[in-house]
Amino acid sequence: MSHQDETHQSGAPTNTLVSITNCVHASASDTSSDTPTNCVYTSASQSFDDETAAKREARQRRYELQRTAATLLRDVPHPRGREWRTVRCLLHFSGEAVAVRYSPSIARASFAGACVCGSVWVCPVCSARICELRRIEIAAAHTVHAAAGGSALFVTLTTPHDISDELSALLGNRRKGGLRGLAGAMKRFRNDRQVKKLVESLGRVGFIRATEITRGANGWHPHFHELWLTDCPQDDRIRVHATEVLLNVWKRVSVMSGLDEPNARGVDLRWSWDASEYLSKIGHEQTWGSARELASAATKRGRKTSRNAWQLLRAAGDGDRDAAEAFSEFAQATLGQRQLVWARGLKAALAIEDRTDEELARHVDEDSFVMSVIPANRWRALLRLPYEWRAQVLDVAENGGPHAVSDFLDLLEVNPSQAREFVRILLEV
Ligand SMILES: [Zn+2]
Repeated sequence: MSHQDETHQSGAPTNTLVSITNCVHASASDTSSDTPTNCVYTSASQSFDDETAAKREARQRRYELQRTAATLLRDVPHPRGREWRTVRCLLHFSGEAVAVRYSPSIARASFAGACVCGSVWVCPVCSARICELRRIEIAAAHTVHAAAGGSALFVTLTTPHDISDELSALLGNRRKGGLRGLAGAMKRFRNDRQVKKLVESLGRVGFIRATEITRGANGWHPHFHELWLTDCPQDDRIRVHATEVLLNVWKRVSVMSGLDEPNARGVDLRWSWDASEYLSKIGHEQTWGSARELASAATKRGRKTSRNAWQLLRAAGDGDRDAAEAFSEFAQATLGQRQLVWARGLKAALAIEDRTDEELARHVDEDSFVMSVIPANRWRALLRLPYEWRAQVLDVAENGGPHAVSDFLDLLEVNPSQAREFVRILLEV
């Protein structure tokens, strides 16, 4: 087998290979104490498809970006004079050890017991988890509403902006009166008589609002994506009329709030047959898979392409000082802002539990079980290595099971380069 030849050439010990082979082949019938016998880890007989490889790479990138975020934030003044929680995300644990949990239904491993920062804005690791669970909540709301015969509108609200605009000024600071910037515009918009009348005529039972922020050639572009759950026919005449009414109000309230007047594209309304278009906008617009490509393309094209926070972070990690500065400004301006807002009472009406971002970041998949326990000294040893090693522990858990995790951590302590080889072989077989 080619991987064996490569192992010997690279000097990895034979017993490493034996243990890899053992754990991979034994995993499906593993009957060790706390491991359910019906659990089947991805094994040598199953080929990895592109999706699995893409997910693994995306996770690796999230940890790399988390390191960049933590490094940058150490030097960014916190608006409340504290240390940024993301700097310490995953560094401490609440109990005696950190556990690797495994969820057979989705074939995924995750850490439990480590303290997380729960920031949907600046922590790539927490944000991915939070957004994933928020998407499930939104999809559930849309499905329940549609099953009851309801309709839904996808509403996008944007305003013009300039390279000189500060992000915090565009967003508006609610602590200082809250009537400036987008916060002010949104408050006026929501309370506007014409909007209220329209909302009533559409039979709107609730809404979900996401705030998204990108940065392009014209500076910061914060905007809103709303999902309106309505009770009227999905008639295009209704949509055109509603767009007209909302655009007039949006123009007026934007100017009243110190923003430039939106153009004809300031309000965009579409009937939402399924929630996928809306869901694709949650969590910084672009998918993880294309983030790196978009970021590098944007740099090549003189930053004409709009970038999200993760793309800025990626560029900052590659040495782009402007991107680093922009990310720092982003972190300060978004602190304390909610990324997703549900209309009051909507979650309760749909029997969806109301959970904070931090609760979601700590959420444990219901069918998961403790696959491995990482003792404190091993966890500390892992933390001394580059962040991406944390992702590799999870890769090992998913592909080799508990014995592989323990072998990997043993190796990691004595010889990280052999541990790297261990992972490479495990993922290749
Ligand atoms: Zn975090």
